[in-house]
Order: sequence, then C-alpha cells, then structure tokens
Amino acid sequence: MEEYNRRTFIKKSILGGTGALVSSSFLYNSHAQNIIKNENTIIKRKLGKTGIELPIVSYGVMRADSPALLTAALEKGIVHFDTAHTYQGGNNEEMIGEVFKDIPRDSIVLSTKIKPEEIDRNTGEIGPATTKEVFLERLDTSLKRLKTDYVDILYVHALSSRNAVLHPELLEAVKLAKKQGKARHVGVSTHKNEPEVIKAVIESGVYEVVLTAINFKQDHYKEMKSAIADAANVGIGIVAMKTMAGGFHDRERTKPINCKAALKFVLQDENVTTSIPGITNFDQLNMNASINYDLTMTEQEKIDLVLEDKLEGGLYCQGCESCKKHCTKSLPIPEIMRAYMYTYGYNDSKKAHELLMSLNLNDNPCSDCKNCSVSCAKNFNVTKKITDVMRLTKVPTEFLS
Ligand code: SF4
Ligand code: SF4
Repeated sequence: MEEYNRRTFIKKSILGGTGALVSSSFLYNSHAQNIIKNENTIIKRKLGKTGIELPIVSYGVMRADSPALLTAALEKGIVHFDTAHTYQGGNNEEMIGEVFKDIPRDSIVLSTKIKPEEIDRNTGEIGPATTKEVFLERLDTSLKRLKTDYVDILYVHALSSRNAVLHPELLEAVKLAKKQGKARHVGVSTHKNEPEVIKAVIESGVYEVVLTAINFKQDHYKEMKSAIADAANVGIGIVAMKTMAGGFHDRERTKPINCKAALKFVLQDENVTTSIPGITNFDQLNMNASINYDLTMTEQEKIDLVLEDKLEGGLYCQGCESCKKHCTKSLPIPEIMRAYMYTYGYNDSKKAHELLMSLNLNDNPCSDCKNCSVSCAKNFNVTKKITDVMRLTKVPTEFLS
C-alpha cells in the first residue's frame, strides 16, 4: 500500500492531478511566472536569503577532469561550480582553482564540502575527533587549492542526523569560517535521512543552504518536498543532487534513466534553487545546460519517468536503513550500496573505492557469514552487491577509472 501511495504521488507530480498520460494542466501551470520561453533567457532562482541568484542548473564537478568542460560550461551561462575537499584526492579543487584563477572572482559561485573528522556511519553521530580546528585547517587547504580567499558556500559534508547538524563544534567552525571571511555562506550536505537533516538545519538558525539528494525514485519524495518547502519558507536555499537516481537501472548499463527528464522533474519544484548534476562530457554539458533555458517537460519525458518509476530495483539506494538492523555485523549497507551505484551507475570506480576505503571494512565482510537475514526495501540482493563491489578494495587505485 505504501509503495502504491508513493507511486500515485510521483505519478500525479509528473502528470498532474488527472494522472492521465497526456495532461494539458501540467504541474507547473501554477508557477507560470517561472517558465521562461525566451531561448536567450536563463531561468534563475534565488538561493534563499543569501542574496545569490543562480541558474537552475549548476555544475557538480566531482568526477570531471577536463578544464575545457569547465570553461565551456561558463560560456554556456553556468556559474556555480560545486566540489569537495576529498574529490579526486584534492585534484578536483586544484583543477577548478587553475581553470578559474584569472577570471573575476565574483563572476562565479564556488562551493566546497568538508567532512567532519569522525562520523559514525551507522548512527550518523559525530565523534570526539571532530574539532573546529581540524575542520578549519581543511578549509584553508581547500582555499589554497582553489586559489581563492573564500568560497561562496561552505558545506559540512554528508550529515545524516539532527545531532550532527546541531553539533556545537561544527556550528562553531562554520561561524568562524564566515567571521574570518573564508565562507560567504554556510550549509550542510546530505544524502541519507534528508528530511531530518533539513529540519535540523531550520532549527540551527546558522546554516543557510542545504545540498540534498532528491529524485523521482525516492520512496520519501513526498516527505522531502514538505521538508524543502519548510526550509524555503524560512529563507534556506536548496541545492539538489543525485537527481538522476544513479543514471541506470541495471549493473550492465543497458537500461538508462532519462536523465534530462529526471533533472527537469526535480526542478519543477520552485523551492529547489539549483541542481548540481555531475558533468563529465560535452554531451552531458549540452543536455544539462539546455534545461537552463527551457524547463518544460515533453510528453515523452513524462511518460518515461512514470514507466521508469515502475521498474523495480535499480541502482539507487534509498538510504532508508531498514536493512541495517538485520545485519549481524552492522555493516554500513547504504554507504556500500552508494559505492555500488558509483561503480555501475556513474562508471566511477575511483569514487567508489574512495568511499569504500573510508568505511574501514575488510575485503568482503559477508564472506564468513553463514546466514544472511538482511532484506532490502527495494529488493536489492544486498549480499551479492556487497560481495561484488567490495572487490574494488583490492584493486590498486592506478588501475581504477
Ligand atoms: S551476509 Fe553480509 S549483509 Fe548479510 S548479515 Fe552477513 S555481513 Fe550482514
Ligand atoms: S539497501 Fe535497501 S533497505 Fe538498505 S538502505 Fe538501501 S534501499 Fe533501504
């Protein structure tokens, strides 16, 4: 029944209240002011109360290693570039710094993300090794790599609990970063337990932006919309990631998700300021950048999303954690599933490797388990996926792509 309700909600969101496959009263008729038909006009939205206005499509640089792509993006009107302290071992920030070092700093909006020193992967709690000093040292390193004195948005990265968002050491760190002029605005990023995190951001009174996973495959999409609306109402800017739900339905990459439709779908919500799809080639750049000029979903795109939503499984783990209580080893299953998605959906085994290594697990933790009583809400064969992706930990990084 729950799944049926979710599907009904998603279907209505995509097709409008009638649920008909071809609907003339499409969802964002009520937001007509936001549909800009002029091909030369970029659709922009305000990032909460920050005073920053952004095109609805920005650039998640995470997996990009081509300076030419970044300059081409800038030429196409994309101005916001998102990276993280750990992406590509710091090379990602270095590349961005090099590419943009000679352009006026205020012509781009840079964001980076820094993880707390210690997070319990199971509870989401922040460990005692996390200090504001370490956090700010990392920020200094990031600024040096980015060749800038400040970032426009500094995120505390990968938080998944209320306590983490409200952790005093992190709150103090971001306040200091702002006071020292090293961050214009501060926020948190989240890809698990997102509604709780967003509510805590509102409660904090400190954070100004949330970078959150959101997509049409989320079982909790309705809850996400509600939390996002609450945040937007108090002036918090919302940036969307993981909009494409893994990009493919299958490990073999034979069933692609209609990524353009998936991105447009998330952006129908005016409370979402912008999105940071990962862009690794010129085709993706052209496709994503075109949405900045026209957010209208075609009838085929609507149909594709409804049909794709009906497909079981896929590569996108909901992060619902309902599997974890059954695992005798209390494995961080959602994180391992995310590594699986990076490997087969994003074709980015380096990123997957980086994530897996941060979990400090042995080779294949399932190998000596006699019985597995873990069951997944999305019917993933969890043991099989863990066994598959954990092989990466044995591969030297120079052999990974
Ligand atoms: S087989 Fe793996 S997932 Fe299943 S209970 Fe054992 S360690 Fe957990
Ligand atoms: S593996 Fe399945 S049950 Fe576990 S968090 Fe992901 S979607 Fe939920």
